[in-house]
Amino acid sequence: MKRLLLVAVILAAVAVVVIIAVRALHHDSGDLSVNQKAAAAIVIVDAAHGGSDAGSKGDSVLEKDVTLAIANKMIALASEYAGLRVVLARSSDTDVTASNRIGAAAREGATLYVSIHANAFDSPTAVGIETIVDAGHASGDSSWSLALAVEKATVKSTSAKERGVRAQGTAFTGLTVPAAAVYVGFITAPEERAKLVTSAYQELVARGILQGISDYLAAAGSPPGANVSP
Ligand SMILES: [Zn+2]
Repeated sequence: MKRLLLVAVILAAVAVVVIIAVRALHHDSGDLSVNQKAAAAIVIVDAAHGGSDAGSKGDSVLEKDVTLAIANKMIALASEYAGLRVVLARSSDTDVTASNRIGAAAREGATLYVSIHANAFDSPTAVGIETIVDAGHASGDSSWSLALAVEKATVKSTSAKERGVRAQGTAFTGLTVPAAAVYVGFITAPEERAKLVTSAYQELVARGILQGISDYLAAAGSPPGANVSP
């Protein structure tokens, strides 16, 4: 009888240890998911122009509408790209000041900043995608790496002409996070304009930009969000 009691006590003790261990494991996995959230790279996507600023125009197509449509596709598709969290600097057809757009980077603790434009030119034969780095950046720095990755992946996704990466004065000069502006095609080229207004092509552009950002982060080697202050 005493021996039976001893066995019961031992079994009860084992059960308590198992319950504590299982709870500890659950607690660990809970912490892990918090870490993964904290490690997501925060990408500010700025759909250029908006509201009273239509940007460039081709036929009846306005740049501000094309850029917003692509930014909204990026939000919709972001969950398919591991470790990316997209935040829009403009989510509707409204006027947003340059300082407010850039301010989104600080407000959100951004990892990087990507602006979306459409291109325009006098000649309707100019086509293709180009990506701009602010002229203040030395060749080969992180903004250049981001721009090159975005240009390459967006051209690959859309099969558009590759115009390359170049430096130019931008509205986001002074940003401390890597930044680039991708000009997703010429609104003044009838064939490219016809593509830019379709949902299917906008998705290809959005996927290209997201892939480029992913490629940049992977090549940078640091965990996404490593340069986000706590
Ligand atoms: Zn523009």
